[in-house]
Amino acid sequence: MELTSRQEQIIEIVKGSGPITGEQIAERLSLTRATLRPDLAILTMSGFLDARPRVGYFYTGKSGTQLLADKVKHITVNDYQSRPVVVQQSASVYDAICTMFLEDVGTLFVVDQQITLVGVLSRKDLLRASLGKQALETIPVSIIMTRMPNITVCKQGDLIIEVANKLIMKQIDGLPIVIEVDYGSGYEVVGRITKTNITALLVDLANDEVI
Ligand code: ADP
Repeated sequence: MELTSRQEQIIEIVKGSGPITGEQIAERLSLTRATLRPDLAILTMSGFLDARPRVGYFYTGKSGTQLLADKVKHITVNDYQSRPVVVQQSASVYDAICTMFLEDVGTLFVVDQQITLVGVLSRKDLLRASLGKQALETIPVSIIMTRMPNITVCKQGDLIIEVANKLIMKQIDGLPIVIEVDYGSGYEVVGRITKTNITALLVDLANDEVI
């Protein structure tokens, strides 16, 4: 949006001296309050200035985008996560498909008997396995899963923006949230973060519901 030179002058005054009343701004510009009214209305409606009754006008500071970016850069996985759904590596493809439907998730994590993460199963992994001629009850998920060490993971304290980057770079739908076990030689799955969680964050941001 194009601002008039007077509107830019107003912004500069409020930036330097806000909160400041309309009357005081008018005085500085040697104009009447009534003359300034339309400019102030435009500047508040477009978000450059904010007005509080009995306080006056103040500059909103950073641009809306900057404020949003600052906020997003502090949100961690911890704030937006879902519970993980896991299957044993000995489970069949048939069982995994049933679990995916029953639990209503798009990604399953595969664990061994010590509940250590060994693999990931996506919808397409299961669809691909279903294209073959073999009975699905007889194929263990361990044959078709994406396996360690090729699994992209994250931790509770990681920034959500880092997770979003990983999802895009690796072209995947979700990540397991893990903690290290056995002195860092393995991972236990403690959560799940997916594109859906990140969409929820977007909605919260739009509704200004992010603390
Ligand atoms: P879909 O295949 O249903 O579109 P994804 O895009 O999530 O779902 O998965 C694409 C491939 O990446 C699949 O083979 C899946 O096993 C694998 N994959 C999914 N999540 C991860 C992850 N966190 N780390 C590594 N590989 C993954």
